[in-house]
Amino acid sequence: MPVSGSQMQITEIYKSIQGESTYAGLPCVFVRLTGCNLRCSWCDSEYTFSGGHRMTVEEIIEEVEHLSPSGLVEITGGEPMLQEREVVPLMQRLLDDGYTVLLETGGERPLERVPKGVVKIVDVKCPDSGEADSFDIHNLDALDSIDEVKFVLSSRTDYEFARDFVAHHHLGGRVTAVLFSPAFSKDARGPRDSSHCLLDPRELAEWMLADDVPARLGLQLHKFIWDPAMKSV
Ligand code: SF4
Repeated sequence: MPVSGSQMQITEIYKSIQGESTYAGLPCVFVRLTGCNLRCSWCDSEYTFSGGHRMTVEEIIEEVEHLSPSGLVEITGGEPMLQEREVVPLMQRLLDDGYTVLLETGGERPLERVPKGVVKIVDVKCPDSGEADSFDIHNLDALDSIDEVKFVLSSRTDYEFARDFVAHHHLGGRVTAVLFSPAFSKDARGPRDSSHCLLDPRELAEWMLADDVPARLGLQLHKFIWDPAMKSV
């Protein structure tokens, strides 16, 4: 295992409110890694595709502790598992230090080496993202009961894909939560409301109720609180 001097490419580390998942609404430190091998049509993190700066695991831990000595930390990107060699020991260190650690990942890279105790929030890409089929189906075996699986939806086609995926793989019984979330317009500016969702949340709610989908409807809190173009929130 690499020593703590190994360096990672980091876009930003900041404290904000967790906007998604069953942890939504809680204060959270975000460690956002640089780089992604996917190009989702509604991506709100394109600024992570390049740039960033090198930091050691030790420097990242220091920054996280400075922002919050305890509580919730999310490892996100980009796709954090592209830096698996360094991010795995980082997550283990954070767990050992008593943090609740969330890993936001598209599930395209192998997840079996993610330390036990890390809550994996796996974002299975739907057809309208342009990255359908990117999820590695073998990663279903790496899911733990504490994990969550998220589908970001922008059409009826996406909804039916997610509904059928959940049923086919019995996701309701495998993980803590299955999350259905309407994609949000990345061009939204000024006052924002549900009309900026690419799929009407009311329509989505009615479909979920009609089909008895074992999923939780989630709105991306941070998109309503802050301008979607704003970084570090
Ligand atoms: S996986 Fe995430 S960071 Fe990468 S393109 Fe898709 S939404 Fe953007």
